[in-house]
Amino acid sequence: MSSSAQDFKGQVVIVTGSSSGIGQACAVHFGSLGAHVVVNYHSSEDEANETLQQIIAKGGDGIVVQADVSKEEDVLFLFEQTISKFGRLDVLVSNAGLQVDAPFLDMSLKQWQKVIDVNLTGQFICTREAARQFVKQAQSNPKETATQSIGKIVMMSSVHDIIPWAGHVNYASSKGGIMMLMRSISQELAPYKIRINSVSPGAIRTTINKAVWSDEAKMEELMHLIPYRRIGTPEDVAKAVAWLASDDSDYVNGETLYIDGGMTLYPEFADNG
Ligand code: NAD
Repeated sequence: MSSSAQDFKGQVVIVTGSSSGIGQACAVHFGSLGAHVVVNYHSSEDEANETLQQIIAKGGDGIVVQADVSKEEDVLFLFEQTISKFGRLDVLVSNAGLQVDAPFLDMSLKQWQKVIDVNLTGQFICTREAARQFVKQAQSNPKETATQSIGKIVMMSSVHDIIPWAGHVNYASSKGGIMMLMRSISQELAPYKIRINSVSPGAIRTTINKAVWSDEAKMEELMHLIPYRRIGTPEDVAKAVAWLASDDSDYVNGETLYIDGGMTLYPEFADNG
């Protein structure tokens, strides 16, 4: 199914972890572009319903599905619900993620495992199911493979896929893992005409980093890390995700797009190199 960045009419988009933050902004943005949106949530049903209401208000439609992305049976349920309601899938935004922070010397196996399970294994299960669905659709309707990608996946990484992060080694390792997962499956699945890319946000104003943006001193410190001198918004990320999921980026595959106001430019070297 063809699409420009402005047109997702008739396309079916799953956004994992879309009851809040970046996922919610992505879901609402795709809704505003005419998509059928599957709003996945883990535990906040009310917030997921609020996301759906915002989608409807913007002219889209969708459903809400509870699933823990780190559990295979839940993800299978998420995809079954999607196909049973809309009959197909065009885009997966694999966004769900969390932080469980601890100094390395104190980090328990449980803290390590939780983050890897959700942030990395969750990405594996969701992207595999999306790819299986895309291949199945293309086999049953080969015409759709003629010129455009048969399906698009955008994985939510972080600047911490390349910036080391003391005190958050489970998180940074999960995001570093996403980069090689994304690049390896892009290489493997490109011949099927499936496109897979990542976005790597810097500091985006969501609940995940509320401790920073709600504290003036911490915000001032943060600005030293951002050459563009502002914190990002979930909508900054959503617009880039939509572009990567559209045919406007049809020749972009296996790439990571940093949405970080320049955080990855080593800003501390600007006047200190
Ligand atoms: P958020 O906490 O608002 O969103 C994370 C979402 O993932 C929540 O809705 C949460 O319920 C969901 N989730 C957590 N565990 C889940 C599970 N097991 N199954 C399904 N859903 C689950 O924070 P956010 O900032 O919007 O984070 C979204 C993504 O963006 C994450 O992958 C995060 O690592 C990434 N990210 C955020 C920032 C930032 O500065 N906010 C920067 C870089 C990357």
